[in-house]
Amino acid sequence: TAKESGRNTYRFFSSSMKDKLFSRFQIENDLRKALKSDTQFELYYQPINTTINGTLEGVEALVRWNHPERGVVSPLAFIDIAEETGLIVPLGQWVIRESCRQLRWWQGMGYTSLTMSVNISSRQFRHGSFVEDIQSILVEEGVSPKHFQLEITENGLMENTEEMINTLKRLREIGFRIAIDDFGTGYSSLSYLKKFPVTSLKIDKSFVFGLPNDLGDEAIVSSTIQLAHRLGLYVIAEGVESQDALVNLKQHDCTYVQGYYFSKPLPADQFTNEILSRRTKNED
Ligand code: C2E
Ligand code: MG
Ligand code: MG
Ligand code: MG
Repeated sequence: TAKESGRNTYRFFSSSMKDKLFSRFQIENDLRKALKSDTQFELYYQPINTTINGTLEGVEALVRWNHPERGVVSPLAFIDIAEETGLIVPLGQWVIRESCRQLRWWQGMGYTSLTMSVNISSRQFRHGSFVEDIQSILVEEGVSPKHFQLEITENGLMENTEEMINTLKRLREIGFRIAIDDFGTGYSSLSYLKKFPVTSLKIDKSFVFGLPNDLGDEAIVSSTIQLAHRLGLYVIAEGVESQDALVNLKQHDCTYVQGYYFSKPLPADQFTNEILSRRTKNED
């Protein structure tokens, strides 16, 4: 894995380049070029379904980098560097605009009730004009914030919490849904759950993989679902890979599910053909 190969090197997943290492410096350089050329990034989409009857509720947009020499690069290999260098701000704006255009396209096809989930890094979120920027992109692209869910990790929320709460409040007033991503893996205390004006919790996949056999994971997942319900929050389990895990989540009344059991993240056209076309338009 990347970690085993050294602190400042990253291993890529495209088979042709399997053994080549990409230095941090190269990643930063190539990221700058990619942001200028504007043709190397692509969003993949993964369905989020209701647990009860499997109806499509929305999609999560997940960025991919089609590197000219290295093939498809996972966000795990470059998001951290984009954060550290500040390049996450222009990259994040590209992601928001592209997800708006795709949602608009799907709405035009008649799929008008989809929610688009977009990951927002904490540095991007704390950027001074984040709220104004996202608002103007949505206005320019003609989509409403009520169709968007912004996903932010627990640790991201814990930096400068007062400022975070203010930003979250403003976003909620505009109509965005806000999810805490990778819930359970960070170091926030439960008291913050009460203070953050969020709408949803996403249970981290590391707890979902063990369902239904790992009793520890099951205890954590079922009590997180209950906690979310008691706080009036939606709850989404990510990393659902098996029918057994799904059945278990159903028993615990999880609201939404996402994972390879339903589909891997797919390029937009493939998502349209393989996922959306199986669904009735305007389904609720
Ligand atoms: P995340 O937001 O927690 O997204 C879920 C990750 O889990 C995705 O990995 C997805 O492909 C993967 N996943 C979903 N279901 C399953 C499953 O059943 N089994 C397994 N093994 N994995 C599953 P991906 O696409 O590699 O993204 C990794 C992370 O990179 C994301 O985690 C998110 O933190 C970050 N990321 C992705 N796109 C963006 C973006 O546009 N902006 C920012 N800031 N971060 C992004
Ligand atoms: Mg996410
Ligand atoms: Mg997650
Ligand atoms: Mg994650």
